[in-house]
Amino acid sequence: MRYSTFGKIGYNVSSLGFGAMNLHSVSLEQAGDALNYALDHGINYIDTAAAYKNSEVIIGETISHRRSEYFLATKTGKRDYASAKEEIERSLERMKTDYVDLLQIHYVNYVDEFKQAMEPDGAYRAALEAKAAGKVRHIGISGHRPDLLTRWIAKGQFDQVLFHLNLAQPFAGRELIPKMRELDMGMVAMKPLSGGFIQPVDTAIRYPYSKNVHVIISGMVSVEEVKMNLAAIEEEVGAAEAEQLDLLAAELGTHNCRRCNYCSCPVGIQIPDVMISSRVREKFGLLPKGDGFYQRNKEKILSCADYEPCKEQPLCQQLCPYQLPMQRIIQEAAGYYA
Ligand code: SF4
Ligand code: SF4
Repeated sequence: MRYSTFGKIGYNVSSLGFGAMNLHSVSLEQAGDALNYALDHGINYIDTAAAYKNSEVIIGETISHRRSEYFLATKTGKRDYASAKEEIERSLERMKTDYVDLLQIHYVNYVDEFKQAMEPDGAYRAALEAKAAGKVRHIGISGHRPDLLTRWIAKGQFDQVLFHLNLAQPFAGRELIPKMRELDMGMVAMKPLSGGFIQPVDTAIRYPYSKNVHVIISGMVSVEEVKMNLAAIEEEVGAAEAEQLDLLAAELGTHNCRRCNYCSCPVGIQIPDVMISSRVREKFGLLPKGDGFYQRNKEKILSCADYEPCKEQPLCQQLCPYQLPMQRIIQEAAGYYA
C-alpha cells in the first residue's frame, strides 16, 4: 500500500480508499467485517455521503469506536445553506462522530448548481460555518465534469476534488489533475471499474494507481472485495506498464462520454452506461454486472434504431455538451445481442 501526503490537507492517506456507497446492499455484519478488515489492513480513508442510503449509519455502527484510525469523508448533496447545515448535523449524528475530516459538495455538474451552492445563502456557507465550529476539517467538491471542475477550483475555495478516473474515463488527466497538482489539492479518483463495467479488474485499478492520485475510491462490500483491491495495488506501477495502461485508456476512452448526465432518452436508455462501456465491451467483454445491465436493457437498446422521433435528429445528441454521436454508439451496442 502506498501512502502519500494529501496535498495541503496534510493527512497521510492510503492510496486505496473504502467506498461505502453500496454497504446498504449487505448485512450489517458483513459490512462491519469489510470495514474493519480494511482498517486492519492499512486502508485509512473512508468515503461516504449523506445520499448513500444508510451507509453513514453503518459506519457509525461498525467503526465509530476506531474513529482516530481513519480519514472520514462525506458529502452533502444540498445546495442551499439551511438544508446543507441540517444535513451536515445529520451526518455527524449518523456516523457517531464530532467531526468529519472532509465534507464534499456532492455531484455538482451544472454551472447553475455550482453558483447556487456558492451564493451567500448556499451550501458552501454551511460548510464554512461547520469548519469554523470544528465539525468539518476540510471542504471539497465532487462532480462529473472535469472541464468545469478545473474552472471551479481555480479560486482556491476547495481543498480536494473527487472525480472519475478509470481506463474508460481518463479525461481528468487532461486539465483537472494538472490544475489540482498546481494548487496542491487532495486528489481522489472514483469508480476505477466505472460502476462494475470494466475488466480485467486488477488492470483497471492499476490505471488510476499509475496516475499517482492520492486516493482511489473503490466500492467494497465484503472482505473478499477488500482483499482483491488490496492485491491489485500491492506492487508499484513501472514505466513500461504505465505506458501500456495509457495506450489502453486512450483506446477505451474514445467514446468521450464524461457521464455528466445532461442527456436523456425518451425510451429510457441509460446512455452514459452504454457509451462508457462501449469500447470495453468490444475489447474484453463485460463483467457480470455490466452484462446484467445489457440483458436488463435489451429491449430499450434495440428500440433505438426504430424510434421515429429520433430518425431525423437524435433527441439525446442535442443535449450533449461534447456533441457526441450517441445514437450511432447505442445502435452499435445492439450487436452485443447478436
Ligand atoms: S437516438 Fe436513441 S438513445 Fe438517443 S434519444 Fe433517441 S432513442 Fe434514445
Ligand atoms: S453522452 Fe454526452 S451528455 Fe450524455 S452523459 Fe455522456 S457526455 Fe454527458
